[in-house]
Amino acid sequence: MPGRKFADGEVVMGRWPGSVLYYEVQVTSYDDVAHLYTVKYKDGTELALKESDIRSQSSFKHRKSQSSSSSPSRRSSSRSRSRSRSPGRPARGRRRSASQSREHKDDKKKTIQETSLALPVLVLFKPSENNTKRYNGEPESTEKNDTSCIILEQKLKPDLEIKRVLEQYSLRSRKDDKKKEEIYSEKKTFMAVKPIEKVPSKTKELEFGGRIGTFMLMFLLPATVFYLLLMCKQDDPSLLNFPSLPALESLWEGRVFGVFLLWFLLQAVFYLLPIGKVVEGLPLSTGRKLQYRINGFYAFLLTAAAIGVLLYFQFELHYLYDHFLQFAVSAAAFSLALSIYLYVRSLKAPEEELAPGGNSGYFIYDFFTGHELNPRIGSFDLKYFCELRPGLIGWVVINLAMLLAEMKIHNLSVPSLSMILVNSFQLLYVVDALWNEEAILTTMDITHDGFGFMLAFGDLVWVPFVYSLQAFYLVGHPTNITWPVAAAITVLNCVGYYIFRSANSQKNNFRRNPADPKLANLKFIPTATGKGLLVTGWWGFVRHPNYLGDIIMALAWSLPCGFNHILPYFYVIYFICLLVHREARDEHHCKQKYGLAWERYCQRVPYRIFPYIY
Ligand code: NDP
Repeated sequence: MPGRKFADGEVVMGRWPGSVLYYEVQVTSYDDVAHLYTVKYKDGTELALKESDIRSQSSFKHRKSQSSSSSPSRRSSSRSRSRSRSPGRPARGRRRSASQSREHKDDKKKTIQETSLALPVLVLFKPSENNTKRYNGEPESTEKNDTSCIILEQKLKPDLEIKRVLEQYSLRSRKDDKKKEEIYSEKKTFMAVKPIEKVPSKTKELEFGGRIGTFMLMFLLPATVFYLLLMCKQDDPSLLNFPSLPALESLWEGRVFGVFLLWFLLQAVFYLLPIGKVVEGLPLSTGRKLQYRINGFYAFLLTAAAIGVLLYFQFELHYLYDHFLQFAVSAAAFSLALSIYLYVRSLKAPEEELAPGGNSGYFIYDFFTGHELNPRIGSFDLKYFCELRPGLIGWVVINLAMLLAEMKIHNLSVPSLSMILVNSFQLLYVVDALWNEEAILTTMDITHDGFGFMLAFGDLVWVPFVYSLQAFYLVGHPTNITWPVAAAITVLNCVGYYIFRSANSQKNNFRRNPADPKLANLKFIPTATGKGLLVTGWWGFVRHPNYLGDIIMALAWSLPCGFNHILPYFYVIYFICLLVHREARDEHHCKQKYGLAWERYCQRVPYRIFPYIY
């Protein structure tokens, strides 16, 4: 295979994917395996391009002398010719005669133009089969050009122009528009553009404080869990009342570890049951799509039935409460062993199966963030399984155990109102996550983060043992609340849930089918990847309305614990920090993915999570 033609740091002209436009870009790296260059556009967008889509700047300067002006009329003529092209074109192209082909090449040369309207330099030329076929698996569809041109126009013209584009893409305004037909065809065009896939390269920007940060987090996270649990066990869980450390041997019990293993295996068996539909995930960097079985909700129902049977046979579920710390230690030991296994197996994984976020080459960093994106044993997807089943369903079971423990310890015939609220709110949250299991396939956890210590510990230890802190707290620290207070907290939880659910559904529905008539009143900004960014509805209110709803719910989960201690508020405080950090990570990824369009979105929707505050 020939070696690379362009060096790192070299400034060249890179074709904007799916279009006939060339921009000035800088080569940042080269993937020897996939033979793709990672290039950076001036607006910050990073894309992987084939060598055939990159040209030296000098070749453009040479053509400049041949070029004529880039008048708008020329441009529109180029576009109208493009529009007649259909996705079936490549086959026709292959049938072309040699003379036609020669003619075509000459034609292409003639129409090469260069403009100097603004930076980045824009070059238009008539597309040819050769050019359009160079894109990884994308159909030869010059309609894609239209999208790129729209983006380009946005870049070149001031904000008024964006307003025009937004109006153009408003489905509502189209209804009465005379040009309905034309615009609809343009929308189809927009939807037809395939996302640009990027072959994973080395992770250059380290998150979580890099190597030192991830090293420290590996100790800090388990320490925090044990500190919180020990605090909760104390009669006075004030922050300054530091708990005394238990004897090491009291933390481990083989039987508890056995119960934990049984739980994990039971969930694995439920996951493997051939019930529930099988769906495809988002395309991987290779273009391949993995299949996932959606049966989390069934697993939950089966678990509920199993727990019912246990209770019927007088199994003391508060065993969980009595050995809570030992269960946490077992889960932590298991997640550490799992992380070691995951890292070792990732060393043999092919380059294209490594996680975009966990391929730095630094052991600690990759071990923590996860080196392999989708580790699977056969069709058993370890990350997908751990994300929603043993930990999340385990959280509900722990809450129930706390409720029973409260009744037993305090000799109650019914659980306290506070305990009922905490159990119900969190049950709703878990059931919602399992009911909408498919939505997890588009989250950062699945598409970007590898499976390593961070997610293994997070899913198996942090979620079940920290998120159940309020219920654990209430067992040792009974809190009485009145019915009006309970009603007010319930309303707060419902408001949070409504925002959280409708925002997530709005985006998920839009991603699945942008033409859905139910979304006809929403406006969006088109982007060069083919996906739009909603600018009205919940996603026009703040940039992460789903986080806002989630935080409101988190507050409603803590309030039933009263105001005697800050400990039950740990969750809401931690959750705000987590989501602010997550929002920043997502923002960074979106900026890379969408470049200028994302900046436009941020201008239009200035607040990230809290309206008028942040
Ligand atoms: P989000 O659901 O917030 O999705 C972010 C993605 O949405 C972006 O990367 C982008 O992806 C897309 N997007 C962003 N803006 C727009 C827009 N204007 N229009 C259309 N699409 C847009 O991701 P998370 O995974 O962070 O969160 C999912 C849910 O999980 C949230 O409700 C969150 O609160 C919850 N969560 C809960 C946690 C917990 O511990 N309880 C932890 C983390 C999250 P693209 O364009 O590629 O589609």
